[in-house]
Amino acid sequence: MMKPTLLLSDLHLAADRTATLAAFHAFARGPARDAAAVYVLGDLFDAWIGDDQRREPYARSIVRSLRGISDAGIALFIAHGNRDFLLGDDFATDAGATLLDEQTIIDLCGTPTLLTHGDEFCTGDAEYQRFRAFARQPRHQRKFLLLPYVLRRLIGARLRGGSRAATARKPESILDVTAAAVENAFRSRVVSRIIHGHTHRPHRHSSRIDGRACERIVLSDWDDHGHYLAVDAAGIHDRRIDG
Ligand code: MN
Repeated sequence: MMKPTLLLSDLHLAADRTATLAAFHAFARGPARDAAAVYVLGDLFDAWIGDDQRREPYARSIVRSLRGISDAGIALFIAHGNRDFLLGDDFATDAGATLLDEQTIIDLCGTPTLLTHGDEFCTGDAEYQRFRAFARQPRHQRKFLLLPYVLRRLIGARLRGGSRAATARKPESILDVTAAAVENAFRSRVVSRIIHGHTHRPHRHSSRIDGRACERIVLSDWDDHGHYLAVDAAGIHDRRIDG
């Protein structure tokens, strides 16, 4: 039997989210070990301020769980989200994972599929896109990473607080993807399926673009339960896992 490819995103793992952490460790011990490949499409961590965050016990246990997946011979891919875009090579090496480019196209059971975190599609939120363009520049990242750990932690917490306040004040519509950005991706990348996370609005959207049947699948964020997509020759299945 063909093993499924598993896709997940927006776990937002953090020290105080114990049920979510338990669900993740259960996922890593269980279904992940029986997959053809595992793709984490961003925001594995609720915050990542540099690879020295691995010193924190909960982060160390996550890296160990990821390592368990890759040591079992399962191909493990991790994309950056808007919360953990500073995940770097030291983290990836320890986890036995391959860090993905911002957008990656794979052949998913015969369908060319674009994988991405998805925040680049939220083009209605100009303020966020400005921050994103700034924060993704290597020279700004290098400067930030030179700061002492405790200072980075403070700045990270402030940014998250600011982002929460901004999200609360912005209308729902500008926090979602724009149709134009999505259509542009379907056209320019010549795929018929896009899988992404970020918006925390799990859904399967069907559309026709230039007469082509296209599907956009939005992954679920994790709460006290884990959520992932299992894709095999038989189809696409929503799965849930508890800690
Ligand atoms: Mn996100």
